[in-house]
Amino acid sequence: MNGNETVTVTVTNVHTIEKVERFIACFNCAKRILQGTSRNVVHCDWCKHTMRISNCSQYVCAKLVLHVKGQQIYLTAFQDVLSNVIKGDFARFSEVEIAEMLLLLENLTVVYNANSQVVKELKAAC
Ligand SMILES: [Zn+2]
Repeated sequence: MNGNETVTVTVTNVHTIEKVERFIACFNCAKRILQGTSRNVVHCDWCKHTMRISNCSQYVCAKLVLHVKGQQIYLTAFQDVLSNVIKGDFARFSEVEIAEMLLLLENLTVVYNANSQVVKELKAAC
């Protein structure tokens, strides 16, 4: 197995959603910052910069579980692929609303990296 093995699966729907997370990207290095420092300011563990939250981009990420041939597959989908199937402003959706929209999708085609378990492409038939 090489480092970039891509797998395509089709499922009638998402089995369960493990969780939907919201995170912010560092204004300096663009890496992921977990929220929680304060309401207005965050600190990046990667580049050690501290910045205003209002300067950072916010993203949503969902952990999905698919049932494929009797096996459960745990995948992570970031906002860039989620936005193919969920239309609208992600900043205004709650985590529960995003989970609900994903669960209601039907006849999904999911392309993911078998090593990182990160979804590269998400398409719904409806
Ligand atoms: Zn940073």
